[in-house]
Amino acid sequence: MHDRLRTRDKLFKYDACAEDSCLLCGANIEDRQHLFFNGRYSQECLMRIAHWLRIPNQNFFIDEVWKNWLRAVKDKVQQKEVLAVLACVVYHIWFARNTTFWQKVVIHPSKLYKAIGRSFSVVVCVLPRRQQTASG
Ligand SMILES: [Zn+2]
Repeated sequence: MHDRLRTRDKLFKYDACAEDSCLLCGANIEDRQHLFFNGRYSQECLMRIAHWLRIPNQNFFIDEVWKNWLRAVKDKVQQKEVLAVLACVVYHIWFARNTTFWQKVVIHPSKLYKAIGRSFSVVVCVLPRRQQTASG
């Protein structure tokens, strides 16, 4: 992530947005760290995904989560799966944020988690070892 997404902290700075609060929780300024990793919403998604991947719970910091999750798995194929899942998580959180902006509804993290699991299954269906599916 190269910090190029138009999060509300940036839009607010450029006077393109009246508020800089997070669309998903309203509790903090929406910057990339909060939106994708520190916010309650993203934390719940990441905790569910980490549990699904059997990666120990930890603090999620945007520039470290990739390395930490890769360290948690040794197999090269599984490392690629982990990176694919993280990319899915970022995509889906951004999708949820934009859905909130345009449709004024917040997708529940459990539903987003299931959508991430479905996307991930499609992306890596060629890898037969992972039999679990994201559920509840
Ligand atoms: Zn938030």
